[in-house]
Order: sequence, then C-alpha cells, then structure tokens
Amino acid sequence: MLPTNAYAAQSATTPLAPFKFERRDPGAHDVQIEILYCGVCHSDIHQARNEWGGSTFPMVPGHEIVGRVTATGNKVTKFKAGDLAGVGCFVDSCRECDNCKQGVEQYCEGGMSGTYNSRERLTGAPTYGGYSTQIVVDENYVLTVSEKLPLAGVAPLLCAGITTYSPLKYLGVGKGHKVGVLGLGGLGHMAVKFAVAFGAEVTMLSSSPSKKADAEKLGAHHFALTSDAAIMKGLANSFDFILNTVSAQHDYGMYLNLLRTNGTMIVVGVPPVPATVPAIQLIMKRKSIIGSLIGGIKETQEMLDYCAEHNIVSEVEVITADKINEAYERMLKGDVRYRFVIDAASLKN
Ligand code: NAP
Ligand code: ZN
Ligand code: ZN
Repeated sequence: MLPTNAYAAQSATTPLAPFKFERRDPGAHDVQIEILYCGVCHSDIHQARNEWGGSTFPMVPGHEIVGRVTATGNKVTKFKAGDLAGVGCFVDSCRECDNCKQGVEQYCEGGMSGTYNSRERLTGAPTYGGYSTQIVVDENYVLTVSEKLPLAGVAPLLCAGITTYSPLKYLGVGKGHKVGVLGLGGLGHMAVKFAVAFGAEVTMLSSSPSKKADAEKLGAHHFALTSDAAIMKGLANSFDFILNTVSAQHDYGMYLNLLRTNGTMIVVGVPPVPATVPAIQLIMKRKSIIGSLIGGIKETQEMLDYCAEHNIVSEVEVITADKINEAYERMLKGDVRYRFVIDAASLKN
C-alpha cells in the first residue's frame, strides 16, 4: 500500500485538515501518479459541505489533477514512468453501457466512479481525490498532458476546461454566434477563452463590477453588469447562447429573457437550491435549457490537445494546501482570479 498525505474534510461542518491514508498498489492496468498540482473547483465546496446531499466522510476533494507518472502496472501501454499525466472528475465507469461505449463515460448508466466522494467500482472502497500527494488510476481514465504548457494552469482544464469546452462543441458554437457567459469564476473564465477561440462574439455577464478589465483581458468583447436593470433590459433578445456557470441560487428567468428566438441556456452551474423556470419564457420564443456534465475521456484529451496547440491555460493563484479553507471562503465571495490551484509539494511530510 502507498502511504499518502492529503487534506480532508471530516464532516460537512469542519474545516479541511491534514489527513493520512493509503492508496492501493498499482494493479496491472493502473498508473501511479505523483500529484504536482490540483485545482480547486466549486464542486469541491458543494460536496465538502454536503450541499448536494449524500456526501461521505472523510472526504479528500480534488478532481483537477496533473502530475508525473511514477510507476505503471505490467499491462499499461499508454504511460511510462516520467510522463506527465492528468486525472479529471472520474476514475472509472462500467465500460459496457451505450454511453461508455460512445465515449461519454460521464453519463455512464451504471454511474461513473467519481475521483472523490464516490466508490471504487471493483472494491467499493471510498475514492479520495487530488488534494493529496499521489493517486492510482486505471490507464483508461488517465489523460496525456503536454510538456508545453505551465502545469499549474493546466490542472483546472481537467474540470473547468472540459465542462465549458464540451457543451460549446456539442452545440457547434462559433463564428456568427453571440454568446453570454454568466459568472466569471473558474468555469466562466474558461468559457470566455473557448468561446472566443471558437470565433463567437462574447459578452461577460457578471455581478462583479471589479471583473470588467479582466473579462476584457480574457478576450470577452463586451461586459455587462447583471445587477444593473437598465443594462439587462437593453440586452433582451441578444444572445444565441448563454453559458450559465453560477454556483449560487439565482433567477433563470432574468437570463432567459436575454436569449433570442431559438436561443439556448447551457446550464453547468449546480446551485444547491433548484431554480424555478417560468414556462412562458421558454414558450414565447422557443427557447431551451440544456444541461451538460464535464466531458468524456476522448473529448477531454481532445480539449487538452487543443489547449496545448492554442496556448490556452487557466488563470491561477497557486496556494499551499494549508490555505484551502481560506480559498473556499474567498471563492464563496467571488474573490478568485480565476482558479485556486494547490501546489502538492506543500503536502509532503
Ligand atoms: P466559482 O469559481 O466559485 O465561480 C462561480 C461564479 O458565479 C462566481 O465567480 C460569480 O461570478 C458567480 N456567482 C457566485 N454567486 C453568485 C450569486 N449569488 N449570484 C450571481 N452570481 C454569482 O465556481 P466554479 O468552480 O466556476 O463552479 C461554478 C458552478 O459549476 C458550481 O456550482 C460547480 O459545482 C459547477 N460545476 C459543474 C460542472 C458540470 O459538469 N456541470 C463541473 C464543474 C463545476 P461573478 O462575480 O462574475 O458574478
Ligand atoms: Zn469540478
Ligand atoms: Zn457505463
């Protein structure tokens, strides 16, 4: 067994604290990875605080992992010691259902095994995530990471990146489309980068006036303050797509109003409280709401390769693991520019 240092939540109401546990030794198909960086996703907060229900403790959050391979099982073909590797939001799935066969394992009918707050498929043991020094994962669920990009900025691509890339691709968003990105946080800033790279005209819809200059630096063509009623009124019937990344309770109706006829709101943010949707808002101009969950392994690799080719990384603030509780508090205030990333070297000893 592999002694591993981590930060864990022991309950939904206690701060994260140092935690030691053992990873399994790599099996024939497994890759052992020394974690270098792990991004901090708002889903980590939702789950560590049991805001979605069903959380299990102790919980080692973290599903935006990059590191270096330290050992491989004797049947592994895609990785060797010394390679860079990434792990995202899931570490296994049934591999047999239609969704798994089609490469959208995130929608596995048997339920994917989440990287944390979930269960190993074979043993039923709890899964522990990336706020830790190492991880052991079946090679089919490990991504290849380019040596070209700064690694701390690559880590958030494994969730924030793929979660925004995937629906934009699925819906064919690009040239000639007007896109509103709602919420400028970890997901929102990646959404801006991808939508701009795909050729869309992008408006940042934010509740934070202080983020205007950053939105423009990220490539957004326009910025609109969502708390300004006059600005929101002026934007009615403006967008083909709104990518909604907001993590807290909010009014969908207000933003559906900004869509054109046949417009689509893409929901990726998961507020703990369900939203109410006024039917009239959908009916009057044949608008739709579509949800999207991360992305499959094949598409995640495609996204990582696209980012390496186009020099796209996340804007990050690197922290030591002991700053994780402070980072959560700052994220809840919208005070993150635009992703905290844990330097896993700070977990050694
Ligand atoms: P984040 O970095 O904390 O960003 C969320 C942003 O939402 C904030 O920066 C803020 O942007 C806005 N916001 C927060 N509270 C708000 C409020 N009360 N009213 C209006 N806007 C508010 O979070 P994240 O990591 O990007 O995650 C966003 C959400 O996506 C979370 O719910 C997370 O669980 C979910 N998620 C879903 C998937 C998926 O597969 N679908 C994957 C990853 C994460 P402004 O300051 O610009 O308003
Ligand atoms: Zn995430
Ligand atoms: Zn499956």
